[in-house]
Amino acid sequence: MRGFWSGKRVTITGGAGFLGQHLVKRLESYGAKVFVPRQRNYNLTALDACVKCLLEQPCDVLIHAAAYYGGIGINQTEPGTLYYSNLVMGANLMEAARLAKVGKVVNIGTACSYPGYLEGHLKEDDLWAGPCHASVVNYGLTKKMLSVQAQAYKKQYGLDAIHLILTNLYGPGDSYNPDRSHVVAALVRKWVEADLAKAPSIEVWGTGKPVREFIYVEDCADAIVLAAEKYNDVATPLNIGTGIGTSIRELVETINGVTGYGGKLVWNTDKPDGAMMKVLDVTRMKSVLDGWTPPTTLKSGLSKTIAWYRANKAQADAKW
Ligand code: GDP
Repeated sequence: MRGFWSGKRVTITGGAGFLGQHLVKRLESYGAKVFVPRQRNYNLTALDACVKCLLEQPCDVLIHAAAYYGGIGINQTEPGTLYYSNLVMGANLMEAARLAKVGKVVNIGTACSYPGYLEGHLKEDDLWAGPCHASVVNYGLTKKMLSVQAQAYKKQYGLDAIHLILTNLYGPGDSYNPDRSHVVAALVRKWVEADLAKAPSIEVWGTGKPVREFIYVEDCADAIVLAAEKYNDVATPLNIGTGIGTSIRELVETINGVTGYGGKLVWNTDKPDGAMMKVLDVTRMKSVLDGWTPPTTLKSGLSKTIAWYRANKAQADAKW
C-alpha cells in the first residue's frame, strides 16, 4: 500500500472535514502528496473553480469526500440545500476532472442512495431496484447520480472512476449539532449532557426499532484508501461498511453501558424513524479488499468517541 501511494498526487475534497481529515492523515503517512482545496479558495459548486483547482494542483487521484449532509433532521429542514449543493458540486467536479485529465476519481457515496423499502442487506446490484426512502431522497439521489455520470464519462472520455457507498459513520470530529447530527453523535451529546446535568431522563427519537449499521470513521478511511488502490470497476459501486445491523434500541443500550447513565428514556414517536433497515452487504468489499473488515467494534468505537467528546465538548458543540 505504501508503495502504491508513495509520491502520488492526491486531491481530497472535504479533506478538512470529518472523514476527509482521516483520509489525509492515512495518505500522507503512506507518502502521498495530498492537496485539500478549501472553500474560501475554491467554491466547488462553480465549474470554473473546480477546473481552476484541478489545473493549479494536478492530481493522479481525486477523492471527492466533500458533501453537505447530515441526519434525518437536516433532511427534513434543508432538502433544497442538500439537493443543490451535492448535485452541482459532484457534477462540476467530475466535468473538471475529465477536462484536467485526472487519473482516477474516487466518488464517496452514501447508503441513503439505496432503495428505502428493500428487505435484508443492501447489495450493490440493487442500487436501482426502487425509490430512495422519502426521508433521505434529496441527499441519496444526488450522490447516486455521480455513479451515472462516472459511467457516462468512462464511455465517452475514458475517465477512470469508482463509486464507494458508505454506511453511517461516527467518531471524533463528527457534527454534534442536534439540528444536523446523525443518531450516534446526537445520542453521545445527549448522554454526556444528561450525565453532567444529572438529568432524570433523555429523549430519543422514533420507536427504537429501525436498524442501522455504524462504521468507525478511521476504519472507513482505511477502507477507502484500500479501495482507491485496488478497485477499478466503474460499472459496479462498492459498499463500505461492517455488514452488522444494530437497532436504535440496542445502540441506546450500548451507550448506556459505556456511560453508566441510569436515567429514564422517553421515546418521542412524533419524530421520524426513517428507513426501517439500512445495512450493507459487504461480501464484495471483503473480496476486493482481500478479506479486510473494519477492526473497531461498536462498543470500543463508542468508548473512544464518548471519551473524545467529553474532552472536546466546547469545540465539538461549536461546529455546525
Ligand atoms: P438516517 O440513518 O438517515 O435515518 O439518519 P439518522 O442517523 O439521523 O437517524 C437514524 C435513526 O435514529 C432514526 O430512526 C432516528 O429516528 C433515530 N434517532 C433516535 N434518536 C435520534 C436523535 O436524537 N437524532 C437523530 N438524528 N436520530 C435519532
